[in-house]
Amino acid sequence: MTIDPIERLVAELGRLPGIGERTATRLAFHIIRTSRARREGSLARDLAAALEAVAEHVGLCERCNNLSTDVRCRICNDSRRDTGLVCVVEAVQDLRAVEATESYKGLYHVLHGALAPLDGVGPDELRIEDLVRRVQEGSVREVILATNADVEGDATALYVAERVKPFVVKVTRLASGIPLGGELEYLDQATLGRALVERRAY
Ligand SMILES: [Zn+2]
Repeated sequence: MTIDPIERLVAELGRLPGIGERTATRLAFHIIRTSRARREGSLARDLAAALEAVAEHVGLCERCNNLSTDVRCRICNDSRRDTGLVCVVEAVQDLRAVEATESYKGLYHVLHGALAPLDGVGPDELRIEDLVRRVQEGSVREVILATNADVEGDATALYVAERVKPFVVKVTRLASGIPLGGELEYLDQATLGRALVERRAY
């Protein structure tokens, strides 16, 4: 028995965060309506191609875990970046937020989450050992902890600090100015830029 393609599209769209069944249905009908008329420039076909390309070509940078279409991401491959600085963030969106401030010229390390023992996220679920290996190699002099200013972000910063301290000269945390519970992704660029410049020893 084959699944009805419309129901299938609604079901797949409904898997996206923040998309309930009503919105999924509305989006599905929009895609179908704007795609039926023509083959060229059809939203359904363009979306399918974009999704296919992402599934096929986007992976994680072998060094920093940023999203990348190459073995190493564009930041790791940029010879003008300061390789002695590593900014540790929870998510790729946070890396993008820090980049948008244009106040930072070092490298990154994306953990892909934060410690949340109650939700079953322990150190082994995050990319922490990769980071420890990176700093053990000896070329990193400062690790900047730029995890969110909430309970999970603070716990993660504390844990990561303990792990990397033996191998680096300096461990810093973003300065205050970030509202309590603040998620980096939603901060304005000026606030985040200042928090980065005024980072303090941790
Ligand atoms: Zn990278």
